[in-house]
Amino acid sequence: MLHVNENYSKIQASYLFTEIAHRVSAHQAANPDAKIIRLGIGDVTEPLCDAVVKAMHKAVDDEAARENFHGYGPEQGYAFLREKASKVDFQDRGIDIAADEIFISDGAKCDCGNIQELFGNDVKIAVGDPVYPVYVDTNVMAGRTGANEGGRYGGLTYLTCDASNGFVPGPEAAGDADIVYLCYPNNPTGAVATKAQLQKWVDWANDRKSLILFDAAYEAFIRTPGIPHSIYECEGARKCAIEFRSYSKTAGFTGVRCGYTVVPKGLVAFASDGSPVELRPMWTRRQTTKFNGASYITQRGAEAIYSPEGQAQTKATIDFYLENGRLMKEALSALGYEVTGGGNSPYLWVNVKGDSWEFFDKLLKEANVVTTPGAGFGKAGEGYIRISSFNSRANVLEAVERIRKVL
Ligand code: PLP
Repeated sequence: MLHVNENYSKIQASYLFTEIAHRVSAHQAANPDAKIIRLGIGDVTEPLCDAVVKAMHKAVDDEAARENFHGYGPEQGYAFLREKASKVDFQDRGIDIAADEIFISDGAKCDCGNIQELFGNDVKIAVGDPVYPVYVDTNVMAGRTGANEGGRYGGLTYLTCDASNGFVPGPEAAGDADIVYLCYPNNPTGAVATKAQLQKWVDWANDRKSLILFDAAYEAFIRTPGIPHSIYECEGARKCAIEFRSYSKTAGFTGVRCGYTVVPKGLVAFASDGSPVELRPMWTRRQTTKFNGASYITQRGAEAIYSPEGQAQTKATIDFYLENGRLMKEALSALGYEVTGGGNSPYLWVNVKGDSWEFFDKLLKEANVVTTPGAGFGKAGEGYIRISSFNSRANVLEAVERIRKVL
């Protein structure tokens, strides 16, 4: 008899964004003339910048000529992109990461999910609550958890992120976790971690021989000097951390698909006899076996992000989103709501002083504005909504006006 992977049945039936889509379409059907503004899903709205578009056009021309044509590329990514990423994202910031420690992929989501293949099924996992659902669901699928009871899976350690810890939990909550997922700037709370806070995690991981999976998908939004852009800014992090990067929010690549994962040389996990096993060769093996590389055209586009024009243009777009966030944060704060995030992140995390789905429904039905209920990101997200800055200025101003009237 053909058996299914029954771990899938543990996953909570209604995926957050499916439920939101369902409520939004029901509202639209009942109110066909309503002009709904979507501040919910974290997809970008601004187009690719000129430097990227030109590089991709040129790459298409390369593919059209026999002498410049590229078929299968290296599974780990083209050297031209790995070298630029290691130089600009790390070495120019004084961080020791080499090109051959960078693995180009089709985005951070896949890498966040795929990386756990390298680890035993008995490893103990710690995640934030609220959390980007991919870290949790991929471990549920792999069978590392028990059933979901009351919004939390058995066997996972949840690190509550709330106002009491400034939405940045410390390692004292991680117990005997072997792997901890950290994400800063955070999705969904928009919180950032200081170097001292991250250093504590790195010291904890090195002491315990645990691993940090650091998701830096939103690092390009950091504007406050001194806030780390990478876990490798912390001393000793090369020995205990893997980092995920994404061009999705950095450069509007949500539809193009490109990112990378950093696996430093010398980073190890342990075999059952206690002997160390290097993770970088394992990840190389995983990628060369199961992945055939991001496309040449995509990687040429990503390379252009690192040109002086690309850097200036992508920064201007992020500044635009940050200004959207500033406008919304100012308005909500003036209405008496506590707002975390913005400033160094595209997300605002708003304490709604009540039930998050009820607040979501109120904004949807009375203001025609879609947000994301915090409860969808975990138990500790109850009482909050997430607002995304990815939108046109006109929509943001209109949404602010409508929210002001309703609240
Ligand atoms: N990590 C976090 C925290 C995210 O919020 C997202 C997307 O929303 C991703 C990773 C996925 O990035 P990508 O588009 O590169 O797959």
